Formats: sequence, C-alpha cells, structure tokens
Amino acid sequence: MTNIILLGPPGAGKGTQARYLVESRRMVQLSTGDMLREAQTSGTEMGKKVAAIMAEGKLVTDQIVIGLIREKLQDTSHGGFIFDGFPRTLAQADALERLLREMHLKLDAVIEMQVDDDALVARITGRSTCGGCGEVYHDQTKPWPEDGKCANCGSTDVQRRADDNEDSLKTRLMEYYKKTSPLIGYYYAKGNLQRLDGLASIEEVRKSMAWIMGE
Ligand code: ADP
Ligand code: ADP
Ligand code: ZN
Repeated sequence: MTNIILLGPPGAGKGTQARYLVESRRMVQLSTGDMLREAQTSGTEMGKKVAAIMAEGKLVTDQIVIGLIREKLQDTSHGGFIFDGFPRTLAQADALERLLREMHLKLDAVIEMQVDDDALVARITGRSTCGGCGEVYHDQTKPWPEDGKCANCGSTDVQRRADDNEDSLKTRLMEYYKKTSPLIGYYYAKGNLQRLDGLASIEEVRKSMAWIMGE
C-alpha cells in the first residue's frame, strides 16, 4: 500500500493525476473537494452549509473535512490512498497524522506540484469535467472529442464548476498561500516532500509521479 498527498494550488493537476493512479495502481482518491460537491448535490445539511463558502473560494472548516476523511480511512483493501486537496491547513495535517497512526498506516510521499500562478488562470477557466465519469478536460490542452462524447464513458454531460472563475480563483489562491503553502515547509522538515514540475505535459507529470513512487 502506497499512501500519498498531492499538494498544489487550484489547477495544479492534482485531480488529473489522481485519476491515473486510481486506474493504474488500484489506489483510492480521497478528494475533499469532490466529497463536498457531492454533499451539495445530494442536498445534505452539510452540503447546504458549505455551498456559499465554496462558491466564494474560501476554505470550509477543518472539522468538516477531517470528518469526511476519517470516514473513508476504514477500508484499506486497495493500493493506497491519494489525498487530493487534503490537508489544506496545518490543523488538517496534524489530524491526518493522528488518523493514519490510529489506522497503522504510513505516509509514503507528499508530492508538491509546482505551477506558475500565471498558468493557473488558464487552467481553471478552461476546465470542464465529465458528469458521467469525472474525467477532467481542458478547452485548450485536453479538449472534448469532436463528437462531444466523453472519451472515457461516452457521456455528453459537460460540467463546469461554479467556482472556476477568475474572481473565486483569486480568493482560492490567497487561501492557498495563507493557509496551505506552509504545509510545504512542514512536510519538507518531516522528510516527506517531493517536488515536480506541474507545468510539464500531463504525460510528463505522470512519468515524474511514477518515478517518485518507485516504478
Ligand atoms: P481545486 O481542484 O481547485 O484545488 P477542490 O475541488 O480541491 O479545488 O476544492 C474546492 C473547494 O472545496 C475549495 O475552494 C474549498 O472551499 C473546499 N475544500 C476542498 N477541500 C478542502 C479542505 N481540505 N479544507 C477546506 N476546504 C476544502
Ligand atoms: P486540480 O485538481 O489540482 O485543481 P485539475 O487536475 O482539475 O487540477 O487540472 C486543472 C485543469 O488543468 C484541467 O482542465 C486539466 O485538464 C488541466 N491540466 C491538468 N494537468 C495539466 C498539464 N500537465 N498540462 C496542461 N493542462 C493540465
Ligand atoms: Zn466520462
């Protein structure tokens, strides 16, 4: 079992790479962003509570996301966990460490995906997701097939996130630098940090990732 954290600003490519690892290594993607969006779609009380915060681009409370992650750590019959978009604060990092210890799990690597801020606007404003299978597309770098059908599942349901606009991105970037970027130093000091060039092509990033994970 290999457990990793994908660390990087919104649009760095965490979700895109997580999907490959799920397919190629039978890992389980734990994206707190996806879990929070699901809670909104299914209309739970928690979903309603966080909707406005997410639309604005602010972080939701540590307590909520830690609760979501805790539930998912029970099943360990797979290739490992990919923490995607979690932890995002030092309090979340501490909580994760405690949870992993309780479950007798170890963290193998924290992979920082480095991307210029200038590139993030284009990444975020061009992003769309398949409503059928969650495949991530980009208007310029990974456009939908000409026939409008998802290459992975055939669905024509093109979804764009409500928070994928320049205004919300500004807030998300500020949240990232204020609250999440200290985790880079935190994991460096712990000896877990690995960095890769997130500006390289999706394929190149995939190779760097495989190299880091020993393959
Ligand atoms: P991105 O793919 O752009 O990095 P995510 O899908 O991970 O964004 O997150 C979308 C939103 O969900 C965030 O802007 C934040 O409001 C909320 N969120 C997701 N994960 C966390 C977390 N670990 N802590 C606090 N808020 C979170
Ligand atoms: P995150 O989960 O970190 O927010 P995503 O994986 O959703 O990031 O990627 C954001 C956007 O950038 C998507 O539209 C995706 O298709 C595109 N993208 C991801 N990785 C790359 C890459 N290496 N080169 C070019 N575009 C990419
Ligand atoms: Zn699809």
